[in-house]
Amino acid sequence: MDKRRRRQKASDVFRETEFVYSSKTDSFDKAFPEIEDVKIEVTESGEGTTQLNCEHIYRKQTFPGEYINCHNPLCYNGGFSIGEIIRNMTESKQAELVIHKICQGYEGSPKGRRRYGRCQNSFDIKVTIEYKEEKNSG
Ligand SMILES: [Zn+2]
Repeated sequence: MDKRRRRQKASDVFRETEFVYSSKTDSFDKAFPEIEDVKIEVTESGEGTTQLNCEHIYRKQTFPGEYINCHNPLCYNGGFSIGEIIRNMTESKQAELVIHKICQGYEGSPKGRRRYGRCQNSFDIKVTIEYKEEKNSG
């Protein structure tokens, strides 16, 4: 058992309040039927990040769900919504996006009752989307 009490991250909080992606690929296809494949490159900097965990690459098969968590062990509700970024991109059929996000969480007590301050972790994100060809093009 990890002696440090783990703070809930954004995906945990989301999981408790919203639906769960039951099968990652299935629900990704349901949520984003127009996407053939996606590549999400995330580099996190800040508390709790190491050379081993600061860089992640996600594909459609390994889509993390609505949220990507931050690694700051004191941060509550930490992370950012990758789902929102992809929804915004698909609305305008954007193929590539480079964006910098600050963690949405705050440092606090394990249940989030006491807040000590904003989490300072940040993410450099590059999203590349490959869209399915439209069936009735031309
Ligand atoms: Zn955080």
